[in-house]
Amino acid sequence: MDISLVIPVYNEEENLEPLYQRIKEILEPLGKEYEIIFVDDGSQDNSSQILDQLALKDPHAKVIHFRRNFGQTAALAAGFDLAQGEIVITLDADLQNDPADIPKLLGKMEDGYDVVSGWRKDRKDPYLSRILPSTVANWLISRVTGVELHDYGCTLKAYRQEVVKELNLYGELHRFLPALASWMGVKIAEIPVNHHPRRFGKSKYGITRTFRVVLDLILVQFLLRYSTRPIRIFGGAGLISFVVGLFLGCYLTVVKLFFHHRIGNRPLLILSVLLIILGIQLLSLGILGEFLTRIYYEGQNKKPYVIKYVTPPSQENR
Ligand code: UDP
Ligand code: MG
Repeated sequence: MDISLVIPVYNEEENLEPLYQRIKEILEPLGKEYEIIFVDDGSQDNSSQILDQLALKDPHAKVIHFRRNFGQTAALAAGFDLAQGEIVITLDADLQNDPADIPKLLGKMEDGYDVVSGWRKDRKDPYLSRILPSTVANWLISRVTGVELHDYGCTLKAYRQEVVKELNLYGELHRFLPALASWMGVKIAEIPVNHHPRRFGKSKYGITRTFRVVLDLILVQFLLRYSTRPIRIFGGAGLISFVVGLFLGCYLTVVKLFFHHRIGNRPLLILSVLLIILGIQLLSLGILGEFLTRIYYEGQNKKPYVIKYVTPPSQENR
């Protein structure tokens, strides 16, 4: 299998038929082996029936039905699990992404990239509620994660299969896929893609997602930098806090014992106690984190590294 399309669908009944036609027009002439995986994320409209009809007619189409709405990240994750294509391409079901860009993505992948991300250069969404917050978010995510992209939010992206199979997605982390993938040392490229206004159905997100993105960003940053060594971040802060607190405590003790000043009413005393307790707390958190990391990696048989290939190739290494 060459290509797997993964398409999250939540209440997109009017978009599905035209989307499917469009995809067919683009993919058939390429002459590649492909599959179209629709993930019906608990749609309440007719999307599931429409998808089932498509899948019955066309052996290329597959549909995963969720029991309820689990969100776009979960939908993508389910699609990734099923995908067999060497290249996995994600796109929205709302016709805002243009299947005509797929050959462009594939072309870029042939240049040796592991992830090719779409950039909605001329985005057709409301400015205040969508484009502005997303510009800020993209800037912030690029700064913090060090993976510079103009458009994290664009679903139209292509990945090598190894990349998506390695990723564990939770919450709303689909927005950070390139950043998460960067942990594996992938080569990422970005190309401008078309974007169309939504014709049918409604957008599933509002302005509130901006705040969730900030929290997710903190988490992603932690996952990327410290997930294998939590003691470094918690322990470091804890140690500083503990040492400063201890120093203040010693100073106050000297003042009390040798100069016979009263220290009971000094704010410094509270600060010293606070810093010492905080220091111990943070250190313990770091140690707990280390234990959790071990459980995380060993329990899931995950490795703290990703192998590109082994020479000479043997059956076990592959
Ligand atoms: N989607 C989904 N589950 C959800 C929300 C959205 O599968 O809980 C799908 C939706 O059907 C669409 C894609 O994710 O195919 C992007 O959603 P939307 O177009 O609403 O986002 P926007 O383009 O406004 O950022
Ligand atoms: Mg959309």
